[in-house]
Amino acid sequence: MFPFAYSKAASVQEAVAAGQRGGRYIAGGTTLVDLMRETVERPDTVVDIGGLPLREITPTGNGGLRLGALVRMSEAAADQSVREAFPVITEALELSASAQLRNMATLGGNIMQRTRCTYFRDVTAACNKRIPGSGCAALDGVNRNHAILGGSDLCVATHPSDVAVAFAALDASVHLLGVEGERQVAFADFLLPPGDTPDREQALRPGELITAIEIPAQPRPLRSGYLKVRDRQSYEFALISAAVALHVERGVIRVAKVAAGGVGTVPWKLPAVEQRLVGQRPSPRLWASAAALAADGAKPLYHNGFKVELLKRTVERQLRVVGGGR
Ligand SMILES: Cc1cc2nc3c(=O)[nH]c(=O)nc-3n(C[C@H](O)[C@H](O)[C@H](O)COP(=O)(O)OP(=O)(O)OC[C@H]3O[C@@H](n4cnc5c(N)ncnc54)[C@H](O)[C@@H]3O)c2cc1C
Ligand code: SF4
Repeated sequence: MFPFAYSKAASVQEAVAAGQRGGRYIAGGTTLVDLMRETVERPDTVVDIGGLPLREITPTGNGGLRLGALVRMSEAAADQSVREAFPVITEALELSASAQLRNMATLGGNIMQRTRCTYFRDVTAACNKRIPGSGCAALDGVNRNHAILGGSDLCVATHPSDVAVAFAALDASVHLLGVEGERQVAFADFLLPPGDTPDREQALRPGELITAIEIPAQPRPLRSGYLKVRDRQSYEFALISAAVALHVERGVIRVAKVAAGGVGTVPWKLPAVEQRLVGQRPSPRLWASAAALAADGAKPLYHNGFKVELLKRTVERQLRVVGGGR
């Protein structure tokens, strides 16, 4: 480890002021402390935000939900209002990490977590995300777990969060507080694909604090669920995952929300699949024809060509689970 300063924020304003001065927020610490131990990250100052009043789950008044940034993953998973309205969120959380980690880890920290690319975490490897301009060891290295969608010539790392895939599917937004005040950013614009600047991962301004994640109201009834495919059955990141939400009225799909994890450099929304579903009647043939569009635009790497077919099959299976239509 290396020397760093520690302070505990007594208010959100105090936190934002410390963040503006370059302080690094720490919430549950389940990601940041690991990265600091490995010297992948070397903040001069760590600002503990764990005691701030951002731990509520509140209805937005129109059928949506506002999830405080410091709500623990286990608290959100156990919350009845989340489970009733958006089981896709509950399932994504229950399939994440371990019970001990979920008791510490926060929702804000979860969407901010950094890639599990092994070269990113190996300080002896070339990595444009860790050291801009140093190269990308994954492009010619072992890239089985890397992205087939949204990569660039500089970085092909996936975003590892499960619940972020559910947030992307549901068109969530992120509430932010900075020295210039509050703002709300669509989830689709919050996590950034690597492009030419893989070291810039979120649309955060210096010192901005995530205060909440908002799930907008959805038409009712909404059936939803999350499927996670991984190398071992528990305590493992997703190889591929699919978040699906469907609103079916009088036998016709009126709203479809679909996103995939483990395949993109950010949680990957699947608009072509959604468009194929809307206006149609649920049926096994429809699930297959929609899922066939899931990997459109995919650019597999040397070791991960299998993800193209696995993505289609995962999406198809989860459409069948959520939508029925037998
Ligand atoms: C062994 C292991 C297995 C895991 N498996 C999974 C899994 O299967 N699925 C999954 O989704 N995740 C998994 N995770 C990741 C885990 O969910 C994250 O570590 C956790 O959610 C991070 O939350 P935290 O509160 O501990 O964040 P911290 O470590 O405190 O912070 C993480 C980052 O977020 C920033 N941050 C935190 N809160 C805020 C805020 N409010 N505003 C702005 N920035 C903020 C910090 O500055 C830091 O950069 C796993 C982690 C481990 C260690
Ligand atoms: S894929 Fe991205 S994170 Fe991994 S080594 Fe390449 S630049 Fe680094």
